[in-house]
Amino acid sequence: MFEKILVANRGEIAVRVMRACREMGIRTVAVYSEADRGSLFARYADEAHLIGPAPASRSYLDIDAIIRTAIESGADAIHPGYGFLAENPRFAAACEAEGIRFIGPSAGVLELVGDKVAARRAMVEAGVPVVPGANESVADPDRAREIARAIGFPVMIKPAGGGGGIGMTIVEDEASLSNALKSARSIADTAFGIADVYIEKYLHNPRHIEIQILGDSEGNIIHLGERECSIQRRHQKLIEESPSTALTSELRAAMGSVAVDAARRVGYQGAGTVEFLFSEQKFYFLEVNARIQVEHPVTEMVTGIDIVKEQIGIDFGLPLSVRQHDIRISGSAIECRINAEDPFGGFVPAPGRIRGYHPPAGPGIRVDSGVCSSGSVSPYYDPMVAKLIVWGRDRDESIGRMQRALQEYIITGIRTNIPFHRAVMENRRFAAGELGTHFIEEETHLVEEMKKITERENSLTERLSKVVEDKKRVAAIAAAAAVAGMQGRE
Ligand code: ADP
Repeated sequence: MFEKILVANRGEIAVRVMRACREMGIRTVAVYSEADRGSLFARYADEAHLIGPAPASRSYLDIDAIIRTAIESGADAIHPGYGFLAENPRFAAACEAEGIRFIGPSAGVLELVGDKVAARRAMVEAGVPVVPGANESVADPDRAREIARAIGFPVMIKPAGGGGGIGMTIVEDEASLSNALKSARSIADTAFGIADVYIEKYLHNPRHIEIQILGDSEGNIIHLGERECSIQRRHQKLIEESPSTALTSELRAAMGSVAVDAARRVGYQGAGTVEFLFSEQKFYFLEVNARIQVEHPVTEMVTGIDIVKEQIGIDFGLPLSVRQHDIRISGSAIECRINAEDPFGGFVPAPGRIRGYHPPAGPGIRVDSGVCSSGSVSPYYDPMVAKLIVWGRDRDESIGRMQRALQEYIITGIRTNIPFHRAVMENRRFAAGELGTHFIEEETHLVEEMKKITERENSLTERLSKVVEDKKRVAAIAAAAAVAGMQGRE
C-alpha cells in the first residue's frame, strides 16, 4: 500500500481523506496556506507544510508548489479532494510525470469530462439520454437561435468548462437570446478561463439525481445507488439524501446501469458521479464529476462502503473490495451542508472566528467538519463549515434525527444556515418527499418558519449554548487562577 499521501486540499475534505489514510496505516502530509495556519486539517496530518499566501491561486492552486512539497516529503500519492485541482488534467499529468500517483481518473478522462460539450457528445454516442440540446459550443447568435428554436424556449445557456452553478443563464424568449449569449460567454471566460458555452432545454423544476460509481484498474465498474440533491440555492446543493423518494427499484437499476455503461465507455477509473436531471419519470444525463463529491457520505451511510478507501485502493492497483451484487442500500441518510452565512440577511457568506463549538452526537450521527472550537471560517474560501449527516432505518427516522442533531449543533461567534435547515426538516413537502430543484424558491414561508424556530423560548439549542458559554467561563477562570498561582510563587 502507499506509505504516504499528500492531501492537496483543505477543510473538512482534507480531514476526511486523512481519516481514511489513518485507518489504512498511511502517513499523511497536509499543505496549507497562511490563512489556514493552525487549522484542524493541518494539525491532523502527520506533517504539514506552508505552501503560500491565502489566495487559492497562490496556494491550493499552485501546482508547482504542491508537487515540490510532495517530492520533498516523500509522498507516493496525492489525493486532490474536491474543488481546487481535483479535476485539473494538467495537475494529474504533472503528478504522473514526477512518478507520484494522482488519486483520481487519468488526465485523458479528466480532459474529456471536464469539457461538458465533449462529455455530452460521448454520452450521446453511448446511447445515454441527455437533456435536449446541441452537442456543440455556440458563439454565433444566429446558430444559437437555430438551436433554441429547434428545442423550444425556455433554454439554458451553460458554460462548457463550468461548475458550481456559475454562469448558467435561463433564456425565456428569442428577443433576449443574443444578449444572454454575450453575457454568458463573458461570465464563463472570467470564471473559468474558457468562454465556450452550450445550449440545453431548460427543464421546469426537475429533480437532481446522481449515481455514485467506482471503477478499478481491472475494468470492474459498479454503482452504489443514487443521491438526490434537489434542495439547491442558486443551483448549488444544500441538502442531499439517499435513497431518493422518486425512484423505484427498476428506475434505480436502469439509471445505475446507464451510469456504469457511460463510465465504461470513457474508460473510467476511480470514484465518480454521473449526474442526471429527472423529470416526468424520465432521466437525462447532465455531467460527470470525476472526483469525490461533497455529498459522498450519504452513500457511505446507506451502503457501509468507505468511498475514499476504495479510491486509494483503486489507485494502488487493487481490485474493488465489493462487487455489484454485494451492494445493499440500507435505511435512509440525509446530509445538511452547514455554511457560514447569514440566513436572515440573504444568505450572504458570513466568515469569522468561532467562539463556541459543540457538534451533535449520538445514534446515527456523522459530522464531517473542518473546524473545531478555536477555529475560524476564512473569507478566502468556500464558507462551508461542516457537513451534518444522519442515518435512520427509514426516511422518517432520518428526518427526526436530523431535527434533533440540528438542535444540538451549537456554533457561536459566526452566523450559520442551521436555522434554515431546521425549517426545511419541519417542512410538510420535504417530509412527503415532494422535491424539485425549485423547492426553496417555491417554499416562500421557510424564512418565516426559520424566525419562529429561533424565537422558540427555552429551546434545547439555547440551553446547550449556555453549556458552551459556561465551558468558556470555566476555562477563563482556570487560566486566571493559573496566572495568579504563578504570581504567588514568585
Ligand atoms: P454545475 O456543474 O455548474 O454544478 P450542472 O450542470 O451540474 O452545473 O447543474 C447544476 C444545477 O443546475 C442542476 O442540479 C439543476 O438544478 C440546474 N440545471 C442544470 N441544467 C439544467 C437544465 N437544462 N434545466 C433545468 N435546470 C438545470
